[in-house]
Amino acid sequence: DDLRDGARRHPDKPAVVCYHVDGSPTETVTYAELLAYTGRFAVALRGLGIGAGDVVTLQLPNSWQFVALCLATFRLGAVVNPVIPIMRRREVAHMVALTGSPVYVAPTRLRDFSYADLAAEVARAVPTLRHRVLLDDPSAPAAGGDDPAVVDFADAFLRADLPTEIDHPEALPDDLAQIMFTSGTTGEPKGVMHTHNTLHALVRTESEALGLTGDDVVAMGSPLTHQAGFAYCFLMPLTLGATAVQLDAWQPDLMLRVVQERRVTFSMGAPTFLVDLIDAQRRAPRDLSSLRSFACGSAPIAPVVAERAADVLGTRVYALWGMTENGTVTITRPDDPPDLATRSDGSPPPWMEVRIVDDAGVPVPAGRTGRLLVRGANQCLGYYRRPEVYASCVDADGWFDTGDLAHDDGHGGIRIAGRVKDVISRGGEKIPVVEVEAALLRHPAVRDVALIGYPDERLGERACAVLVADVPLTLADVRAHLDALDMARQYWPERVELVDALPRTPSGKVQKFILSGRYAAGPA
Ligand code: ATP
Ligand code: MG
Repeated sequence: DDLRDGARRHPDKPAVVCYHVDGSPTETVTYAELLAYTGRFAVALRGLGIGAGDVVTLQLPNSWQFVALCLATFRLGAVVNPVIPIMRRREVAHMVALTGSPVYVAPTRLRDFSYADLAAEVARAVPTLRHRVLLDDPSAPAAGGDDPAVVDFADAFLRADLPTEIDHPEALPDDLAQIMFTSGTTGEPKGVMHTHNTLHALVRTESEALGLTGDDVVAMGSPLTHQAGFAYCFLMPLTLGATAVQLDAWQPDLMLRVVQERRVTFSMGAPTFLVDLIDAQRRAPRDLSSLRSFACGSAPIAPVVAERAADVLGTRVYALWGMTENGTVTITRPDDPPDLATRSDGSPPPWMEVRIVDDAGVPVPAGRTGRLLVRGANQCLGYYRRPEVYASCVDADGWFDTGDLAHDDGHGGIRIAGRVKDVISRGGEKIPVVEVEAALLRHPAVRDVALIGYPDERLGERACAVLVADVPLTLADVRAHLDALDMARQYWPERVELVDALPRTPSGKVQKFILSGRYAAGPA
């Protein structure tokens, strides 16, 4: 409805602008064009037998085609299953099999990887997959040879004779719309189910908190196949009647150029994206005066990063907390003190409740750390085909245990203190992991950090700082730095490991379970 409305009010306004890291020409699709493509793609999908409730798997880079295919899927009352482009055969086959998806859409080939081959392997392993739709690769011969299961996107979806409107029952607000897999930070990703209503609520949480409007220009590096990009660089700008600028892969210099060229006003991303932008702007500065705000979340936000963003980018940082399961839930706001984002992860909208409890489920006194529970309109329906896993996270009153630890921020909001699974308990003393990491990042030579526990016979666990550093820092250097910051001695790491890079999910989170496995044997 918002798209139709936008196409009526400003048909020629750019809805989606796509930049390509390989330098191929930027593409612009207006509101009127996007509405027409949505109709055509819905007709084409219906031609492949897709109807209400079917799951359409899309493994595409950020693009207007991804946006229009999702909208077409919604138009049919069907369900999108976005898959991050870097996923490979094992993960894709798992998701396509689990969701029973009859259609898989991907580029034929991208950056030297053949999705056509991947699709063929998945089809062999998963008989429920009937159609592989491949977007054309100008350098390749016709996509499928004579395999009838392979559909050439240009032939089937871009034919000029396809009608731009479809006569088909509309989806209902409480229908399933999306199955989005979690990042897999703690292990196997879970397929989160959202309806049109829950997506709408989580989109509004952010646009209303920040007062975004149709005049905004939104750009971010997150993949649209992750909830951050899907909700806030696709659904949010289009429901506002704004312009969404897409990058088909993350490249900080390109992002800065895009901000300057398109006068981008709003961006968002995990702290790693912000760190990359700060580095890029220091190397080769651009005019970023249009960029009023950057919403940062997905992983702990070290205060020093928010401070540097203000200095180097001239952009106000808003801190937010959320999950694939409920999108943005808490966020700081324009009328908060500007530095609150270095101390808080914000407060929820009126349609979400948050609560911090101890292990017995009793609310903890202000200032104490406990488990973060949430409930309200943003909350997903559950995990696809894993009802027992979801049920174990929700109590009889509908409170969802997020698996995160938080405390009251003293301003009516919350501050995340880490994940329950990442707690380091040193002889019973809980080490404030997020705070120690933030302090370590203040060291001028430290580029990245993860604090993990390693087994110890006497204390159960001790803390190890895994560092990416410009110089070979020693344990003594690290401790001297924390001492200078007045950090309590019992929180200091007792071991340092230097690495070239931390293992991260595509959404920019450190995979601590990999590090813990690697260093479980104790110091070398
Ligand atoms: P999985 O559930 O598969 O292990 P994941 O939890 O990383 O993966 P997401 O849904 O992408 O998958 O991430 C949600 C998590 O991100 C939250 O539960 C929280 O741990 C972390 N997170 C989000 N925002 C913040 C924040 N502001 N500060 C600290 N952590 C955050
Ligand atoms: Mg999770």
